[in-house]
Amino acid sequence: MRILLVAPPGAGKGTQGALIANHFGIPHIATGDLLRDHVARRTPLGRAVQDHLSRGELVPDEIVLEMVRTEFIAAKAEGGGYVLDGMPRNITQARALYEIALTLEMTANVALHLKADDEELTRRLLARATLEGRSDDTEEVIRRRLAIYHEVTHPIVDWYASRGILVSVDAVRPVDRVARQILTALEAMRPLIDHVPEHVRQPIDLTGLGAAFGQD
Ligand code: ADP
Repeated sequence: MRILLVAPPGAGKGTQGALIANHFGIPHIATGDLLRDHVARRTPLGRAVQDHLSRGELVPDEIVLEMVRTEFIAAKAEGGGYVLDGMPRNITQARALYEIALTLEMTANVALHLKADDEELTRRLLARATLEGRSDDTEEVIRRRLAIYHEVTHPIVDWYASRGILVSVDAVRPVDRVARQILTALEAMRPLIDHVPEHVRQPIDLTGLGAAFGQD
């Protein structure tokens, strides 16, 4: 499986990304984690991006694209599956990523969109701030990250819908419920992915199906 996660900050990309990767035995490539790791190790790349991260701004496209190309090459050696979390963040990245993946014969089968409202996201991020102390989990920076999401990231959802690979899930539910819905959808799609061309597929919207998946 080759999966992209498209979601606002706080929607649970990291948590669900890890669960999906574990379930399918594929690498979880999380751009935010990779960048924070560079910052922590004070590499030249880390020094170049640390201000962007702490202000909640996107880091330059070339930097993340190059980083992800390297990760894709490693993932290809491990069988070619991946869960990419945190990228693409804008339409330029989406198109460039598609080109990179095309060259490596690793274009995504599914763009998984985790939906949540800003109020819930802010609440979650502020709660996480007290636990993890991430420099970008302050109220002001959270507001900026959400604004960037709405302005430049969310529009790529329509691009994936038109490519026929979009699956939307309601992320405002307990972690295990969201996970169950995602894994059920992905398992159902898995046998079809190699046989149904993208141009005849339709976007899948599971956001109204909470009750069917055991919502309280
Ligand atoms: P979140 O989505 O919760 O804000 P991430 O861990 O995915 O957290 O990203 C944290 C920060 O890392 C972003 O605010 C941004 O500065 C940087 N970043 C991560 N991925 C990208 C990307 N694809 N393009 C540009 N900047 C990125």
